[in-house]
Amino acid sequence: MKITDVINKKEYSVSFEVFPPKTDSAFESVESAVHEIASLRPSFMSVTYGAGGGTSKYTLNIAKNIKDKYGVPSIAHLTCVSSSRDTVRDMIGRIKDAGIENILALRGDIPNDPSFDMNSIDYHYAVDLIREIKNSGVDFCVGGACYPEMHPEAPSKKEDIIHLKEKADAGFEFFTTQMFFDNNLLYNFLYRIREAGITVPIIPGIMPITNAKQVKRAISLSGSFVPQRFINLVDKFGSDPDAMMQAGIAYATDQIIDLFANGITHIHVYSMNKPEVARAIMSNLSSILGKNTD
Ligand code: FAD
Repeated sequence: MKITDVINKKEYSVSFEVFPPKTDSAFESVESAVHEIASLRPSFMSVTYGAGGGTSKYTLNIAKNIKDKYGVPSIAHLTCVSSSRDTVRDMIGRIKDAGIENILALRGDIPNDPSFDMNSIDYHYAVDLIREIKNSGVDFCVGGACYPEMHPEAPSKKEDIIHLKEKADAGFEFFTTQMFFDNNLLYNFLYRIREAGITVPIIPGIMPITNAKQVKRAISLSGSFVPQRFINLVDKFGSDPDAMMQAGIAYATDQIIDLFANGITHIHVYSMNKPEVARAIMSNLSSILGKNTD
């Protein structure tokens, strides 16, 4: 099933993200987390792609299992900046052969390696990747990434939105946002992109922060603004793992309910292979999910 068909349904829904293992030996534990999360019946599940493609076979296997074994629609992420044209074309063919209909097409982060030569790469931006996917002739549903607080490399929000518009014009059918901890940032972003003529659906991405260490890591990776309300919560409960888990899930639930109350109907949760987090979110929303949005 295409992700656009899932998110266009007139009912409140959530999806979850999982990431592939780095080694064969870790595959089983990831597969077991995937199984538990899939059994919660989210509207779809996404599977990330390791930078450089080192874990690509796991991304494919997991996305195929989600769809075939558990009957949940899946989307495989694919990055391009550190891959050759042959590798990307091969990967697109393998995604098709696995019967996966959805791709989240990303540039990927520029490798932090002085020998990485930007002049000799095949793809510079995500927009180059969607052109390659479209050239394959396969009717994939292709989504991409967007950044309510702007991408860290962008010189300005205005310029970031110009490039987002180019992505939408090139055929991206929806965008999933980078995590954010203040919903007003999302509302402001939606206003600005709609004004710029970007009309495709935007799926807000919510990251439940469930331990204090994760806060620093998530924020340094994403550059997200952290409201004082959230800092207070980590200061108070960060040293007590159970309390922090409960508080982090409550904060994420509060964000999701506010988004639903303000016209958003579908949320993507960065569940980070944690079935207990996915389960708690589903339980907190049990009387809302599946309800008609009209
Ligand atoms: P782009 O859309 O190409 O944008 C990158 C930068 O280039 C932006 O600053 C943009 O403004 C600018 N730009 C775009 N087009 C042009 C142009 N034509 N000319 C000049 N500038 C331009 N990474 C992974 O490795 N694996 C994953 O599975 C993964 N999943 C992700 C899922 C989501 C929802 C998000 C938000 C991010 C994900 N990432 C993942 C991280 C992502 O790869 C990085 O954020 C990366 O730095 C940018 O990717 P992009 O597709 O947004 O790039």
